[in-house]
Amino acid sequence: MKVVLATHNKGKIKEFQNAFQEFDIDFLSASDLDLQAPEENGQTFEENAYIKAFSVYEQTGLASLADDSGLSVNALNGDPGVYSARWAGPQGDFSSAMQRIVNELQPYDDWTASFQCSLAFVQGDTAPLFAYGEVKGKIVWPPAGSNGFGYDPIFEPDAYPNKTFAELDIQQKQSISHRGQAIANLIHKYFT
Ligand code: IMP
Repeated sequence: MKVVLATHNKGKIKEFQNAFQEFDIDFLSASDLDLQAPEENGQTFEENAYIKAFSVYEQTGLASLADDSGLSVNALNGDPGVYSARWAGPQGDFSSAMQRIVNELQPYDDWTASFQCSLAFVQGDTAPLFAYGEVKGKIVWPPAGSNGFGYDPIFEPDAYPNKTFAELDIQQKQSISHRGQAIANLIHKYFT
């Protein structure tokens, strides 16, 4: 089966390929096909995931899997949330985005946060499939670790105290992450 991952994010592509290893799926990405990225003007992760998956399906006619995800910091009323990619600007400057989070957190004692992920799978004219995953943890400073992508160096999941996502290997992250859980939920709900 051919599935297009509706993303240009190399970190996400790596995690999807890793998670679906045991399935016979030929993954292509939006970058491989040089596809236009749609405007992500949804208010929720689920809406944005659907916008991205549907846009790929419209452009290619192929089955498409999209993830919309982000980091929600409790003391910042859930920011950056659906704006997680946009806080890094067009150049994807996550050093500045991580610094901004820590600057904004200075007045607060509560540095708890969560990563959230919604998946949308669009195939033909059948109803889209959705799944969700979330992982709780806290923001730490300074950034630590060099694996992963985005905000991984400042997020310490509750399941691995004293390690950031960027200090875990891909399997460890996958076993507890928002994306790992959303993928497991998608497989469990629709493909088992
Ligand atoms: P999206 O690609 O529009 O869904 O934007 C999601 C953004 O949230 C990414 O660019 C990252 O900044 C952040 N994000 C989502 N998942 C992760 C993760 O697993 N680790 C670190 N950052 C993430």
